[in-house]
Amino acid sequence: MDLRYTPEEKKFRDELAAWLAAEVPAHGKPPSVHDWPARRAYDTSWQRKLFDAGYAGINWPKEYGGRDATLVEQLIYFEEIAKANAPYVGVNFVGLLHGGPTVMAEGTEAQKQAHIPRIIRGDEVWCQGFSEPVAGSDLAGLQTRAVRDGDHYVVSGHKIWTSFAHVADYCELLVRTDPEAPKHRGITWLIMPMDLPGIDIRPLPTLEGEGEFSEVFLENVRIPVENRVGEENDGWRVTNVTLRFERGTAFASDMIQLQAYVRNMVRAAKKITSHGASAWEDKALRREIGHLYGELESLWAMVKLSVCEAKATGVPGVGASAVKLYYTDVYQRATELSIRLLGRAGLSRSDVGDLSSHLFWNRHFNAISVSIAAGTSQIQKNIIGERILGLPKEPKAAGA
Ligand SMILES: Cc1cc2nc3c(=O)[nH]c(=O)nc-3n(C[C@H](O)[C@H](O)[C@H](O)COP(=O)(O)OP(=O)(O)OC[C@H]3O[C@@H](n4cnc5c(N)ncnc54)[C@H](O)[C@@H]3O)c2cc1C
Repeated sequence: MDLRYTPEEKKFRDELAAWLAAEVPAHGKPPSVHDWPARRAYDTSWQRKLFDAGYAGINWPKEYGGRDATLVEQLIYFEEIAKANAPYVGVNFVGLLHGGPTVMAEGTEAQKQAHIPRIIRGDEVWCQGFSEPVAGSDLAGLQTRAVRDGDHYVVSGHKIWTSFAHVADYCELLVRTDPEAPKHRGITWLIMPMDLPGIDIRPLPTLEGEGEFSEVFLENVRIPVENRVGEENDGWRVTNVTLRFERGTAFASDMIQLQAYVRNMVRAAKKITSHGASAWEDKALRREIGHLYGELESLWAMVKLSVCEAKATGVPGVGASAVKLYYTDVYQRATELSIRLLGRAGLSRSDVGDLSSHLFWNRHFNAISVSIAAGTSQIQKNIIGERILGLPKEPKAAGA
């Protein structure tokens, strides 16, 4: 076995690195986190640039606008994007990283033709309508009802924590189509256009104050049956495909950000001085940061495994839950350390002098939510216990 890169792979890396070196600075700084139209424009125009240069949809077939890159090229792509500190996937998260991949794996040819090229070009933004006030960890308990009326489903219900709903064109929506069946067997996965009558989007401010979330109220929304992905009542199986992408490969771009974050911490440590010495001169701190960077490398190896599985079978394996759990843990420890490093400046929401207090503070609060998004850490532990380690299933709550 030859583990060295081939001349073609080296050429791919060099060309991509040169393109990123020119385009990343030219794309400018991201807009204010509160300016959602500008954020959509920034994220989607970067996606368009990737597309025009032949780097979008890196793993998707050429016939849908992708590059159909080899596995090694996909990994080189992630590494170079990280090194160049390229713009984050942002509002394209759902479409590119789990909605689109689910359509690729489970959708009809017409659905793939309609959505994949537009997602890859940055023309279509998606959101995820899974959680409900009574259905989060117990997602299969969802109650949003869909009743068949000819060639439409008539949908009524209430979704919550819907990230990017207010800038999205489509929603991957879970509905209950058979209320009599056991809860996992009465669910259907639909593609909902966000401009249909009967959709009411209400922003849901959070501790972070950034307004990523909305509640989405649905009242007699008529969704064409042709927008169903998979069979009626087979939505739980399709949902598991979505969740494996969301937990296994979607975090690749977040890890890119986290690597850059740790590098930022090193820069801050060199600027912070106490008693005439910089914080970076503290061996214990250097050891802690070095250890975190090493853990990020291990995490990267786990992501590579998920990417390999997705390439071989079409979907990441159940180890996706371990990636999500470990990522959450490293992320929280990294941001906690950065706030400790800032000392008093860590109390400020704005930058203090040269220090990135704003970024560190923001990411520290965001890290809390990462242990909840895409399934809580407790739920990932349940999945790892039951489906990877083969431990007995958790006992059912009385009356469940
Ligand atoms: C940043 C972020 C983005 C999100 N984006 C979206 C989105 O775009 N679309 C969407 O649909 N949803 C989204 N969510 C919602 C997210 O999926 C849910 O919040 C999550 O699944 C948890 O559900 P819940 O909030 O109802 O908590 P609950 O399910 O009520 O859980 C409360 C607590 O009980 C624990 N718990 C529950 N059941 C068990 C169990 N069986 N074993 C052990 N512990 C248990 C949980 O771990 C948690 O600590 C997002 C959440 C966050 C934080």
